[in-house]
Amino acid sequence: MANWMCIQGCGACCNLDPRDRPDLEDYLTPDDLALYLSLVGEDGWCIHYDTATRQCRIYDDRPSFCRVQPDTFEAMFGIAPEDLNDFAIACCQEQISGVYGEGGSEMASFCTQVGLDSDAESSR
Ligand code: SF4
Ligand code: SF4
Repeated sequence: MANWMCIQGCGACCNLDPRDRPDLEDYLTPDDLALYLSLVGEDGWCIHYDTATRQCRIYDDRPSFCRVQPDTFEAMFGIAPEDLNDFAIACCQEQISGVYGEGGSEMASFCTQVGLDSDAESSR
């Protein structure tokens, strides 16, 4: 079974460009939406994202919507805790594909580290 994890050297979900996320209003509260939009830099990446190291500069203090944990995903998406693993994997794959491409090294690395067959995934 695949087990979700956030891999080093990815950062795809820190690309916040609202044009790529037209349904933000569906899952963020008005306050969180305002916070989200305040984080978007001119290049679409979060202003707290270090593009050189691909790491969050405020990791310990990052907003709740950046946290992959049962309570936040249940609140935002109505995902039951037992479904979080598969949902998070699907979210990461969608985000990685959108930012780096489905055939990139990031997708291959993610699939390998969570325990998915990257060839099977990338050939869908
Ligand atoms: S897309 Fe997934 S693996 Fe990549 S940085 Fe975000 S949570 Fe981590
Ligand atoms: S606050 Fe940190 S984790 Fe959240 S989008 Fe920005 S860089 Fe990524």
